[in-house]
Amino acid sequence: MTTDRDLIVIGAGGAGLSAAQYGARGNLRTLVLEEVSSGGQALLIDGLENYPGFPDPINGYDFTRKMEEQARKFGAEFESSGVTAITRDGNIFKVETDKGALTASAVILATGAVHKSLGVPGEAELAGHGVSYCATCDGPFFKARRMLVVGGGDAACDEAMYLANLASGILMIHRRDKFRAQKSLAARVLANPKIEVRFNTELRKIEGERVVTKVRLFDNSTRREWEEQVAAVFVFIGSDPRSALAASLGAPLDDVGYVITNERMETSVPGLYAAGDVRASPFRQLVVAASEGAIAAHAAGQYIDELMGEKYL
Ligand code: NAP
Repeated sequence: MTTDRDLIVIGAGGAGLSAAQYGARGNLRTLVLEEVSSGGQALLIDGLENYPGFPDPINGYDFTRKMEEQARKFGAEFESSGVTAITRDGNIFKVETDKGALTASAVILATGAVHKSLGVPGEAELAGHGVSYCATCDGPFFKARRMLVVGGGDAACDEAMYLANLASGILMIHRRDKFRAQKSLAARVLANPKIEVRFNTELRKIEGERVVTKVRLFDNSTRREWEEQVAAVFVFIGSDPRSALAASLGAPLDDVGYVITNERMETSVPGLYAAGDVRASPFRQLVVAASEGAIAAHAAGQYIDELMGEKYL
């Protein structure tokens, strides 16, 4: 039986765009399904400074636009639709979307991850009114004001550095006594005179009538609770993988919900691959996502050839 496409890539972040390019360039009839717009979490990057080959920082939006352009150049097609379910019948995947069903021989899940929230009082109520999860999107609204950054990983450190250029001052809190972030990033934050770092500190409450005006903080080493005046709260405490589609097909996830694959990005389901931030991996970077997308598309190409009876020797 023929399928609508050889390869369907779900998600158009760094991993999905790279998979699309490699798939299409490898002569696979490749379709990318993306709910919103291409770019994924890379859209939040103001200055991408660690992608090899780009010595001058490039905006995440511009970078992923170029990735999409390159994938289209090789023949990848893009469709804006959300995937609601995937089933597998024999060797054929049926991908249900909000615009109808499509069939394919191989599927690459590049669905990424979504930011976590703290769940403290005031966070949901004031989201979009001073509470934000994206520094480049919302930082400019609070120019020359004092901002709070929550988190201790790479994202929190990167974004605190970006926001420090806009804010009158940054108060950065982290729940433990040292950063999780890469040493070089952490050192830059600690050396920045506009960033005041408070370790062992937790956010208890965000307050304000219509916009954020103050926060209640808690020092978990001294048990002291106090108030700080800030105009914005930026939360960078990690992400949750969007792995429900993989789970629905029976592909194993790790204990925090990331999809487990082998080094060829193969899940336990033949023809189903995972790449990028949805995949269980020790290092989540755009360059890693792009590499994983390429590997997944290459492996999918070999798998499809084998299905067609063209074995690789
Ligand atoms: P992450 O590495 O998981 O760090 C999350 C941080 O938030 C940790 O410091 C964690 O504290 C803290 N946290 C988690 N839950 C919390 C809670 N409920 N309350 C308070 N604090 C909480 O996440 P990330 O920084 O978003 O990075 C995700 C991945 O992207 C990583 O692999 C990272 O390397 C990569 N990334 C890289 C760059 C770069 O290379 N420039 C930039 C951004 C992201 P604990 O430390 O106590 O667990």
